[in-house]
Amino acid sequence: MKYLFSLNFLLIGLSLHFMQFDLFSKWHIKSGYPFLMAGPCSAESADQVLTVARELKKTQVHLFRAGVWKPRTRPNSFEGAGEEGLKWIQAAKVETGLPTTVEVASPAHVELALKYGVDVLWIGARTMVSPFTVQSIADSLRGINIPVIVKNPVNPDIDLWIGGIERIYNNGITQLAAIHRGFSTYDKSKYRNKPLWEIPLELKRRFPDLPLLCDPSHIGGKRELLLPLSQKALDLNFDGLMFEVHSSPDEAMSDAQQQITPKDFAGLLNQFVIRKRNAEDSVAYSSLEELRFIIDKLDEHLLETLNERMTYSEKIGAFKKENDIAIFQPERWNDIITRVKFIAAEKKLSEDIVLKIFDFIQKESIRKQSKVMYGGSVESKQKI
Ligand code: PEP
Ligand code: MN
Repeated sequence: MKYLFSLNFLLIGLSLHFMQFDLFSKWHIKSGYPFLMAGPCSAESADQVLTVARELKKTQVHLFRAGVWKPRTRPNSFEGAGEEGLKWIQAAKVETGLPTTVEVASPAHVELALKYGVDVLWIGARTMVSPFTVQSIADSLRGINIPVIVKNPVNPDIDLWIGGIERIYNNGITQLAAIHRGFSTYDKSKYRNKPLWEIPLELKRRFPDLPLLCDPSHIGGKRELLLPLSQKALDLNFDGLMFEVHSSPDEAMSDAQQQITPKDFAGLLNQFVIRKRNAEDSVAYSSLEELRFIIDKLDEHLLETLNERMTYSEKIGAFKKENDIAIFQPERWNDIITRVKFIAAEKKLSEDIVLKIFDFIQKESIRKQSKVMYGGSVESKQKI
């Protein structure tokens, strides 16, 4: 079963890998880097939509966004202007020529969005947690090759994100992009939604050709985090960014704290440092190569040291077996952790990362010692 799943996953990986992404070739995502989407969280009135679109037309924005169906946490909040909002968005598109995108959360939404000439659809983070809903949207798109941008689900589950992309792709949508908007976690942080960058980066590693965008507005939840989050995404080689821009952000009917004026948005764009996307493009490439060579050497040392450590774990395993001592000794492990924390602090290494590394080392060490004790693999022992 496990192997079947892996094979299945590999095939999916290959199919996503070989997809054609017309969405971005049409809008020159690579040459017009970064690809930019912006607009209000919600379409609130014809005037608000038009004012923001006119201002954004003067910037490098490629795509105008606005929500007309808003997934709100509590009832009795503003839930969007619905079909009326689509009319305002269409009018703004006709006047400014900016292509448009809205969030769809059901087949009925898809039908209305198409009726009002929306150019790109996006699937929201709350919708993405429900495979039934994503499948129903995907089914309603069969035969319509409209570009779709897929947000990550609110929970940090990369397979659910990939599954959503796959459902859309399997229904014939070849113009796809993913968008990272952070994750809900029980522990609160300075972010509205924790970035957990390793998850979108893993998506990029598995599907390098799938355009990956970032939504700093929903990750940060506040204006002052927009610049550092955007710069981080650019430095991590994301293909584009989405921002919430409002004519009077403080009065916005949803997500007021994270929206900015078109003027502040233009100022924000000016502050970005756009680095070279491929190391080979840089004149300093040879010195980068030297640094990489040193890193490779250090990695070898790390692995040699790890191997040496494991041979001592095995020796300890043999000693414990001979003297009939239990493999796991909690006091000893606590001592190791205390010492490691102390050294990490001295060397200014992140305690969090160092503890994670030692957690793996301990697991491997216990596995080695168990192997010595039982004379076979722990897995085979467990099956007995
Ligand atoms: C949005 O972009 O307006 C939105 C509702 O985002 P998310 O689905 O990421 O919460
Ligand atoms: Mn919003």
